Amino acid sequence: MWPFTTPYPELPLAHLSDEYDYIVVGGGTAGCVLANRLSAPREASPRVLLVERGPVADTWLSRVPLFSSDFASDETRTLRRPMRPQAALEGRPMQAYTGAVLGGTSRINQMLYTRGLPEEYERWKETLGKDDDGRAEWGWEQMRRCFLKSEKADVEVEGVHSTTGLWRNRTHTEFYFKGFNEVVAAAKDVGLPYIPDVNSPTHPPFGCARLHVTIDEHAHRHSAYDAFLPKDLALQRARAGTLHVCTGTIVEKLVTEMSESGQLVVTGVVLGPTAERKEGRARSRVVRAKREVLLSAGPFGSPQILMLSGIGPAEHLKELGITVVQDVAAVGSNLQDHFGVSVGFNISMWDSLLSLEKWPWRFFIEFVRYLIWGTGLLLVPVLQLAIFTHSKLLNERGLPIKTEKVFSEDLPDIEVMPMAYESSDSAIGQYIPRTAGQFSFLNVLLAPLSRGTVRLTSADPRAPLDIDPAYLSNPADLVPLRASLKLSLRLRDRMRERDYEMRDATVPKSESDEDLDAWIRTCNRTTYHYTSTCRMGSLDDSEWDGGAVVDSRLRVYGAPTVAVAERCAEMILSEEQNID
Ligand SMILES: Cc1cc2nc3c(=O)[nH]c(=O)nc-3n(C[C@H](O)[C@H](O)[C@H](O)COP(=O)(O)OP(=O)(O)OC[C@H]3O[C@@H](n4cnc5c(N)ncnc54)[C@H](O)[C@@H]3O)c2cc1C
Repeated sequence: MWPFTTPYPELPLAHLSDEYDYIVVGGGTAGCVLANRLSAPREASPRVLLVERGPVADTWLSRVPLFSSDFASDETRTLRRPMRPQAALEGRPMQAYTGAVLGGTSRINQMLYTRGLPEEYERWKETLGKDDDGRAEWGWEQMRRCFLKSEKADVEVEGVHSTTGLWRNRTHTEFYFKGFNEVVAAAKDVGLPYIPDVNSPTHPPFGCARLHVTIDEHAHRHSAYDAFLPKDLALQRARAGTLHVCTGTIVEKLVTEMSESGQLVVTGVVLGPTAERKEGRARSRVVRAKREVLLSAGPFGSPQILMLSGIGPAEHLKELGITVVQDVAAVGSNLQDHFGVSVGFNISMWDSLLSLEKWPWRFFIEFVRYLIWGTGLLLVPVLQLAIFTHSKLLNERGLPIKTEKVFSEDLPDIEVMPMAYESSDSAIGQYIPRTAGQFSFLNVLLAPLSRGTVRLTSADPRAPLDIDPAYLSNPADLVPLRASLKLSLRLRDRMRERDYEMRDATVPKSESDEDLDAWIRTCNRTTYHYTSTCRMGSLDDSEWDGGAVVDSRLRVYGAPTVAVAERCAEMILSEEQNID
């Protein structure tokens, strides 16, 4: 670092105050938003502490999209956790990936900025109903206002995009690989329209959509950290005394007490050094929260902290000798991921991101192009399109049925991601040969019925977790994946008919159910979208294991002074500026 620049205002554990109004646990995608909104200057601003286990690690390389995406980045910002060998996937061991750095997983992800469909948020409204004051909190209109408030798009489109928020997003101005133009044409041929803006609420739910990415005007990754907690803002707030950011520190557990009325109250957190720093002199200490503790430690960290604090499935906690303070069965249950299955082809090297690895001269040209114009392959345009459809709208051969509204399904259950690169999991040894360019279709299950768990292995906050995504534990998940694989192969056929050269490399033996299922069980991967381990809903929601963990205000059932926020936290806060 240049010796005269002011460093990021990180406070070590020993220098923290004893008490804050709010403590935000986990400085990731949601945590950066929470810290920003809560510590915003206003009359009697509350004092906020943000605790993050990872470092700030803000270097030039960490901002270049290609070098900062997980598959190309170093290990300093990524936490890879082993998951249980998967029974339905021939016992294959897999890993879960999350960011462990200020900005969290938004510092290592693919930067795709894709909203849900209005209908999805309307379903939340139906399920969650209204709050105590009779207001609906989660419908599309509420979400639309929040999206518009938080985003800073290239161009304002009334009711769709705004340019006044903090989080930059944009589309690439061109398709960087010829294969993507061919996919658009092939999709149109089979009856899936081109959707130029995936985030427009009026686009059809099924089609081939151009994606948005969170890249700023300097061609840098724009993570939640860059958008909501950049250095200048953190310095201002630190000077004003409204925000302290403590990195390299974990929350070991919550401090809980029983109020006189018999209500469980969370009064603070126990902080300690990370496993890597444990050998040093840092010791654990308690910091109190006058108002609330907000958990935004991600799909593994948040249930872990709740369970270590005695809030979780009672039987599991007892087995580990943890005193149960609140039996909340759904904590750590209902783990879901968008399971993905890949088919791969060899194409011209020029048309593939692999060319950057194979041809140093091309890398050099692209590097210079990036430095001078901020364009080119270093923006990692490996994925610029996604095809959304419902498996029931595909016929036996995987082609869309032309008649509209034959079925009542109005939300996609599969997504096909065309990639100018390999997309299978490198753990299984099923690779597209690297002697020519690589192209693949990653078939993603959008509405999985299989549900897994996150459990503790010990009462030690630094011990590894037992993560079981239970992929395909519900065999009904095979059905949409079969349809999606067939659709991918039909797109391949159309692309070939258009004289785009694609040689089969990693594809199923045949399109019989048996061969497709065998393929699904071997050529698969995580797509890193772990969710629902602290799900929002009602306690008596019998479709889900244990119902839910938080209510529609994100407050933990039975412990209302602790709230859990994933990425959706942005929505509540941007509406209200405060969670009180
Ligand atoms: C490789 C990859 C690519 C992806 N691509 C996309 C994409 O293109 N588009 C998209 O929308 N989604 C993508 N995702 C998913 C998306 O990025 C995540 O779902 C989202 O960022 C999660 O946000 P979060 O705030 O819930 O958790 P995180 O951003 O993971 O934040 C949790 C934070 O809590 C910290 N923490 C955990 N435990 C503790 C503790 N005990 N004490 C203190 N701190 C703690 C962690 O270090 C972390 O920084 C991708 C994910 C990955 C891994």
